[in-house]
Amino acid sequence: MQCWICASPASGVCRFCGRAVCRDDAKNHVFVLEVYPADGKLYGLAVEDALYCGVCKPKAEPVKMDFLEAPDSGPPKKVTKSTPTE
Ligand SMILES: [Zn+2]
Ligand SMILES: [Zn+2]
Repeated sequence: MQCWICASPASGVCRFCGRAVCRDDAKNHVFVLEVYPADGKLYGLAVEDALYCGVCKPKAEPVKMDFLEAPDSGPPKKVTKSTPTE
């Protein structure tokens, strides 16, 4: 595998996007393993120096994952573009 940036033999793979990078081009970036709410605040388990290619753009803020939430019961709700009636 070759470095994405300089085509030297790669020594690692970006934790975020999967691009291969050599030691010279590899960078560090905080990698958040898990975010969980506690006491009304958000806490996260993170690796401070995960291998990062310097090319991709990991989000600094957690991204909302509403679409992953399972429905409480019954069949999945239909996604419509109409305004909810509440
Ligand atoms: Zn390189
Ligand atoms: Zn990357």
